[in-house]
Amino acid sequence: MIMNGKEFSSKILNSIKEEIKNLDKKLTLCVIQIGEDEASKAYIKQKENKSNELGINFKYIKFNEEESEINIENEILKLNKDQNITGIIIQLPVPNKFNTNKLINLIDSNKDVDGLTNINKAKLLNNEECLIPCTPLGVIELLKAYNIDVKGKNVVIVGRSNLVSKPLFNLLLNMDATVTMCHSKTKDLKSYTKNADVLISATGKSHLIKEDMIKENSVIIDVGISRIKGNLYGDVDFDNIKDKVSYITPVPGGVGPMTVAMLMKNVLEAYKKQKN
Ligand code: NDP
Repeated sequence: MIMNGKEFSSKILNSIKEEIKNLDKKLTLCVIQIGEDEASKAYIKQKENKSNELGINFKYIKFNEEESEINIENEILKLNKDQNITGIIIQLPVPNKFNTNKLINLIDSNKDVDGLTNINKAKLLNNEECLIPCTPLGVIELLKAYNIDVKGKNVVIVGRSNLVSKPLFNLLLNMDATVTMCHSKTKDLKSYTKNADVLISATGKSHLIKEDMIKENSVIIDVGISRIKGNLYGDVDFDNIKDKVSYITPVPGGVGPMTVAMLMKNVLEAYKKQKN
């Protein structure tokens, strides 16, 4: 079965829209961009459009690469104090000359709708309530939507990034899965993927996961996105695998739409945390 992230995410967005209508104040998502990154522009536009659709205010702050770090730090501190700002994101990647970790960790953890501050990361590690990075959260919600229980299952994640794979590892472990994490230095990747009841690939290497690397009737979640000659591809050889597994996500239309929906969900969660 093909897991329809697009359809499920629009259900989630509709319910968020309804809930937002009844709140005592208007929510505001603020995105900070530093420097010029072509892909970032498209991602920011997507966040703006979704915010508009849901009735969430969108604030965009742009700094040039030449901006002094202290000015950016001061802006973040100002946004933390501003009662009208619900969620703050620093759009990644940030140019190398800046201390990205320092900037991210200045964000108030209750406004950290990307779930990337050390406070939220530590809470996730301890299985405490927190704001969780959007893509990993989207993967979990998609599994839940299709009643896929990971408890006791062999889950293999290909990729070990801080943004996607590591939070996903913690979430799945907290859900009692037996989780294995592979990466570019893993020897004999197939020996791991072959045993996966649930295989999650997040590398950005198109066609990395081939037919002979998967277990029959398993669940395949493809987080990867690569753009080749204007077309989008996932990590998985979808056409040759889709009939051999019980569930599989397409690219596009699988995890991608869930990520944006989870961001909107996190803005609402952040509002609730600030209210408490
Ligand atoms: P990173 O580039 O940070 O991480 C990629 C990971 O893949 C690394 O850990 C790397 O290993 C591993 N890797 C690369 N090649 C191989 C290989 N041949 N075999 C095994 N592992 C390999 O990317 P992100 O985690 O940020 O994103 C992963 C993918 O997901 C990207 O394509 C990105 O565009 C996409 N993405 C999709 C989203 C969505 O909404 N659908 C949202 C966010 C990301 P090593 O650490 O050893 O280098």
